[in-house]
Amino acid sequence: MKYKRILLKLSGESLMGEKQYGVDEMRLAEYAEQIKEVARQGVEIGIVIGGGNIFRGLSGISKGFDRVKGDQMGMLATVINSLALSSALTSMGQKNRVFTAIRMEPVGELYSNQKAIEALKNGEIAILSCGTGNPFFTTDTAAALRGIEIEADILLKGTRVNGVFTADPEKDRNACKFDEITFDELYFRGLKVMDLTAATLCKENNLPLIVFNMDVPGNLKKVISGENMGTYVHN
Ligand code: UDP
Repeated sequence: MKYKRILLKLSGESLMGEKQYGVDEMRLAEYAEQIKEVARQGVEIGIVIGGGNIFRGLSGISKGFDRVKGDQMGMLATVINSLALSSALTSMGQKNRVFTAIRMEPVGELYSNQKAIEALKNGEIAILSCGTGNPFFTTDTAAALRGIEIEADILLKGTRVNGVFTADPEKDRNACKFDEITFDELYFRGLKVMDLTAATLCKENNLPLIVFNMDVPGNLKKVISGENMGTYVHN
């Protein structure tokens, strides 16, 4: 395996599968299977999951929610997804631990980077929920932050497309994929791969990113073993 310690970011929406809302059990089991497969190879895995399949702070504003409360609801949504993934991994016999950035025992253990690293060294997958614990941030930013904190070799963003494209490949048939691109170029081209806060954190702390298609079974293992796939984003 090329990468020994990874931070995997999964969006909440990707957990929906074909559903319109919530968690699709088949998709969840399929992700858990891929994650277990690489954990069995000795890869240390931290995971940050989004909450967009349940609630997003910004969209809450249009429904009359105050932004801070809306964001807190979004952070709680990431906890629901994290518990779902934890449960799927446990049912497959894969050790894991849920951490929360906001204190809420016994739902999860209060996060600290030391405790998360201890869990990783112990062969447990560390599922890092609640985003950063602060409103006005995203789970992409949380993934960048936690990736830096746990000293991951790489940030892997599992999506339903094959990488970073010149335009949205789901909308534009002429969109071309980048095999690699720098963080600066992402910015100058205005490509919406991650929000700027997340990209800046990665750039300033030298944490490279690979955007890849997690919906194809086996892809997670391929990307970690160093197979040339997805888009490699670097300084
Ligand atoms: N959120 C937040 N702080 C964080 C991370 C997330 O307030 O550090 C809230 C925010 O409202 C966001 C929601 O949680 O809209 C869900 O996260 P995100 O939109 O990043 O999920 P994804 O798009 O990956 O499913």
